[in-house]
Amino acid sequence: MSLKRLVGRIAIVTASTDGIGFAIAKRLGQEGAKVIVSSRKQQNVEEAVKLLSQEGLDVTGVPCHVAKTEDRKKLFEVAKQYGGLDILVSNAAVNPVMGEVLDCPEDAWEKIFEVNVKSSFLLAQEALPLLRQSKAGRIIFISSIAGFQPMTLLGAYSVSKTALLGLTKAAAVQLAKENITVNCVAPGVIKTKFSSALTSTQAAQDIALSMIPLNRFGKPDDIGGAVAFIASDDAAYMTGENLVISGGMASRL
Ligand code: NAP
Repeated sequence: MSLKRLVGRIAIVTASTDGIGFAIAKRLGQEGAKVIVSSRKQQNVEEAVKLLSQEGLDVTGVPCHVAKTEDRKKLFEVAKQYGGLDILVSNAAVNPVMGEVLDCPEDAWEKIFEVNVKSSFLLAQEALPLLRQSKAGRIIFISSIAGFQPMTLLGAYSVSKTALLGLTKAAAVQLAKENITVNCVAPGVIKTKFSSALTSTQAAQDIALSMIPLNRFGKPDDIGGAVAFIASDDAAYMTGENLVISGGMASRL
């Protein structure tokens, strides 16, 4: 990696032991940031830290289920010990049910909004004391193309991702006077465990690819690069934006 835009920066990436979060952690580390990786399971955290350290990256890790207050507290304690915080990437999300929006059971709706929206809001709120000490504070939410263009079988999840687009806009205006930027990345279909229902059978692949002008699924690294750009000084004048990285999939609200 020749770009080294993040030397001297410290980053938290939630849900970063696999998939998109792992690729984001890797790219931020490759660009020189110190990275705190996290996810629910200690073993996954240990494995991710090992893999990234083997690449020569400056990483540490701590388990953090984003919906647990005590876990988030520990995450920020680790950041303090590491020297502060410049970049928060809120990446964790769940989708416990497949189905249309008005068929969503109440408990699934609550879980989706607790993890995808409320935890993102709380992480941003709790990160502020540390981000305020940074010269280039960044909050980056990971939404989805489904936040722009709801997916029929991901009804409630899509609405939760639309909420993140709004959270980005509102928080960006609030924090602009403090020079903390708030932006959002909306991935299209990226090949990870999360999207396996769309990518694992030929029939599903054909349907999904027919909606993607670039005619391929995204790679987690495609999102890592976009997040590194937003985290860097190259995006210093960008705030309140929702950046779609979807291979051209339709993305009108
Ligand atoms: P993934 O491959 O399923 O990644 C799962 C990661 O999340 C693992 O590290 C897992 O580790 C961790 N995790 C799960 N629940 C967690 C929780 N409550 N707290 C903390 N960590 C948790 O998912 P992905 O595809 O990379 O998705 C990442 C983000 O991108 C999500 O916000 C998703 O909505 C968004 N997105 C994905 C796609 C796509 O096509 N893949 C498209 C649009 C948007 P543990 O099991 O150890 O917790």
